[in-house]
Amino acid sequence: MIDIKQFSALQKKSKNSFANQRQLMKKVMAGQTVLCPACQQPLRLQTPEQGTENSGIRCKKGCTDIQLDFV
Ligand SMILES: [Zn+2]
Repeated sequence: MIDIKQFSALQKKSKNSFANQRQLMKKVMAGQTVLCPACQQPLRLQTPEQGTENSGIRCKKGCTDIQLDFV
């Protein structure tokens, strides 16, 4: 049996983190300094022009790795 309460809590959680990622993306793309929530290193926007295969927002250690779709 599925625990409905648990399920909706899970859904809520993933929605929140998606909203957080979008907010974070906006800030980084606007040139603001945003620190990785895990390691407190500044997040950097990487684009294919910089020689990386995928666009994304990453920290030095890689605990934050948000893929972006520019195309
Ligand atoms: Zn990190």
